[in-house]
Amino acid sequence: MDSRHITIVGAGQSGLQLGIGLLDAGYQVTLISNRTPEQIRDGSIASSQCMFDQALGHERALGLDLWPDAPVVEGISFTIAPTEAPGVKAISWDHRLDATAQSIDQRVKFPAFMAEFEKRGGTLVFEDAGIAELERYAENSDMVLVAAGKGEIAQLFTRDDQRSHYAAPQRALALTYVNGMTPREEFSAVNFNVIPGVGEYFVFPALTTTGPCEIMVFEGLPGSDMDSWKGLTPAEHLENSLRILRTHLPWEYERSANVELTDANGVLQGRFPPTVRHPLATLPSGKTVVGMADVVVLNDPITGQGSNNASKCAASYLASIIGHGDAAYDDSFKTSMFEEYWKYAQHVARWTNTMLAPPAEHALSLFAAAQQNPSIAQRFANGFDYPPDFGSWFLDAQGAADYQASFNTVA
Ligand SMILES: Cc1cc2nc3c(=O)[nH]c(=O)nc-3n(C[C@H](O)[C@H](O)[C@H](O)COP(=O)(O)OP(=O)(O)OC[C@H]3O[C@@H](n4cnc5c(N)ncnc54)[C@H](O)[C@@H]3O)c2cc1C
Repeated sequence: MDSRHITIVGAGQSGLQLGIGLLDAGYQVTLISNRTPEQIRDGSIASSQCMFDQALGHERALGLDLWPDAPVVEGISFTIAPTEAPGVKAISWDHRLDATAQSIDQRVKFPAFMAEFEKRGGTLVFEDAGIAELERYAENSDMVLVAAGKGEIAQLFTRDDQRSHYAAPQRALALTYVNGMTPREEFSAVNFNVIPGVGEYFVFPALTTTGPCEIMVFEGLPGSDMDSWKGLTPAEHLENSLRILRTHLPWEYERSANVELTDANGVLQGRFPPTVRHPLATLPSGKTVVGMADVVVLNDPITGQGSNNASKCAASYLASIIGHGDAAYDDSFKTSMFEEYWKYAQHVARWTNTMLAPPAEHALSLFAAAQQNPSIAQRFANGFDYPPDFGSWFLDAQGAADYQASFNTVA
């Protein structure tokens, strides 16, 4: 048969990865981007994009591990810093990941993946897709996927009230890309700090447009001291980042006292409600398009899973499309492609939504136990690579009790 033609709207993590995977499998692919590579490279940061081994593995399988010398994240550290005792770590542990993680600034990655996509025979079109354009793509292709992230076009997909847990943003988000931070001792890590009643702060090494850097991520509870980013200049944004560390996390401030911004576009602030959407949108013509990654399962970045999900969604959709062979891309197939991905993504959404709420007693008990028990710390760390593991022990009170009790059993 003639090779099938698939159009993907959005040249981000999921769209580029799926597009390249489909080209390699012999499909014709058109990718629509509302930004040129130059606009992305010279634009603002959008994410902290730390990706763990399984997600990186899907990139490796497509020959997309293009930054072998970029900084790596070797572990996870976790600290609870109570506000009533500034400077005190109520709970603190760290553990190496079984395999390293990595963060490549999307301003570096997406232009490189776009070049790779074109090199492998894909057609890249620059336009901001709206309904008229979707109709055109649907007319000219066998299937249209929408991988537009948080772009406005995602609103065509209606919210799934059953599967969405929150209706409002749960955190005020801010990113600060910096140089000059003192490295962690022993091994590099995502340093994850929880300040009850204020928010979370995590920080890790990455590669940006100017070379290696550290990315500071702030997750402020609405109305808290960490919800204080609106209208700031880049210099004020950096100063606010340092003020928060000075006030709540002196050990992080110590490492950061001399940092400077990587570039004037190395700051971001925003907020959005975590949302699960129905996978199909119907155009005025009656034709349907199917959503992927953030368009259909948008999580708060507190657990750093969005790019990981995007990679896993691209791999899952690729397998579904190839597995479907020559059969028709009808609505039943499009829905089943999403449901297959949801089998995985629902676990990430549940864990992420849980981490946005105050911790349950059993969760606190596990966080504390990880200080004494490296096996628990190790399991927490590797859960970032494969969150479905959390279901049976971290997200379930009885499972947590059984798991902790298992360490008391003498063999
Ligand atoms: C503050 C913050 C921190 C984060 N940290 C992490 C982290 O540490 N780890 C992690 O895994 N994830 C993280 N994420 C999430 C992650 O960046 C996203 O989930 C991921 O990039 C989503 O991939 P995607 O393919 O769905 O969309 P994107 O990668 O966002 O790509 C969508 C693309 O579509 C384009 N587009 C949009 N609308 C249109 C249109 N109408 N026509 C044409 N093109 C269009 C956009 O320009 C964009 O390039 C973070 C997010 C935020 C906000």
